[in-house]
Amino acid sequence: MTTSTLTHLEGSESGRTYDADVLQRLDPADDRPLLARYDLGQAARSLSPKSLAQRTSGGLWRWAELLPVRDPQRRLWLGEGATALYPPTRLAGALGLDRLLIKAEGANPTGSFKARGMAAAVSRAAELGATSLIAPSAGNAGGALAAYGAAAGLPVTVVMPADVPAANRDEALVCDADVLLVEGLISDCGRICAQIAAATGAFDVSTLKEPYRVEGKKTMGLELAEDLDWHLPDVIVYPTGGGTGLVGMAKAFDELEAMGLVSERRPRLVSVQAEGCAPLVRAFAAGERRAEPWVGATTRAGGLRVPAAIGDTLVLDALRSSGGTAVAVPEEEIDAMQRSAGRLGAGYISPESAAVFAALRELVANGTIDADEQVVAFDTGIGHKYPPPPGLVTPPVVGAAEQDVDRILALLDRGAAPA
Ligand SMILES: *Cc1c(COP(=O)(O)O)cnc(C)c1O
Repeated sequence: MTTSTLTHLEGSESGRTYDADVLQRLDPADDRPLLARYDLGQAARSLSPKSLAQRTSGGLWRWAELLPVRDPQRRLWLGEGATALYPPTRLAGALGLDRLLIKAEGANPTGSFKARGMAAAVSRAAELGATSLIAPSAGNAGGALAAYGAAAGLPVTVVMPADVPAANRDEALVCDADVLLVEGLISDCGRICAQIAAATGAFDVSTLKEPYRVEGKKTMGLELAEDLDWHLPDVIVYPTGGGTGLVGMAKAFDELEAMGLVSERRPRLVSVQAEGCAPLVRAFAAGERRAEPWVGATTRAGGLRVPAAIGDTLVLDALRSSGGTAVAVPEEEIDAMQRSAGRLGAGYISPESAAVFAALRELVANGTIDADEQVVAFDTGIGHKYPPPPGLVTPPVVGAAEQDVDRILALLDRGAAPA
């Protein structure tokens, strides 16, 4: 029987212990994130490479011992987790890497890895008695919250910047969420969420302001270990907004080590941000453990447009203790790489994912990453939910009649450029 071995919550900075079986948000001692703690000795008794191999279905819930939901009936599963780790041969060649792997998170339901975090957080919030949910979102989190909230049968409110891509807004609406569009950034939306939550009693599932979205995202690290036969890669490159996935993966590796499943060797963790919003890169370079809020954040990569991250210290500590780094990518390179990645066979990836490959090219060129190192790049979401990269040319419409064939051939000869 696979059940959660959750024991308590711990203040990430205060180290204080809290009850994990009531709804909790930030550490009451210092308003910093709370982290879930497990009885890893007990987890190791039922969770092993062998038992995992027998769990052929269930996506991220295959790791139930290391997830917070106690009642198996409460596990919301829309197919998230167990995404592919594949070698993108042509793209790897163009980047000068021999052993590049892509973790294909766009294959999750709702088109991004936000599904992992929301699967865990919404399941657990419902188990602990939450009656309605709310969160700010620059895009993908809102759609995921709406989808999992609907699966749980709980009313959801999503607060989004007014310029959020239409696909994200419509996804939340179709999944029956109340959508509030705000003239402002994700940080403004977060403030409004807190006010609405205080007034209505809705449970605020802003990332790292409750303890369980990071647990869902942690499963990316667990899967990597399993997929690589319990030998972690040399480098992990991750597009970082709030940093939930990085914090989660670092936590996953620590838990696996405590369970005797991986060695103490850690991948170098690399955070990628956009030059138009790079608070963690700036703090990393300055040697700080807190990131000052970024003023005037702009980037087409909505998931990276996070001016202030509540998990800043957790991210910065994880980067440093792994021997990793943080890099910012110019917006033009994100745009260009989104098309290069598609041309080179990585599919229609999100701008956030494109930022990862743009950063990789730079990191290989400047010697931070060697050509023969095993690198895992996170493709965190599909491109379809965003406005297309600038410069795409809409092809002309041609007639279907036979006499149009000559014109069609002439057009194709010119690279199908429009008249
Ligand atoms: C949210 C998001 C990110 C950033 O994720 P964090 O774990 O919060 O840093 C990156 N890419 C995409 C596509 C996202 O939706």
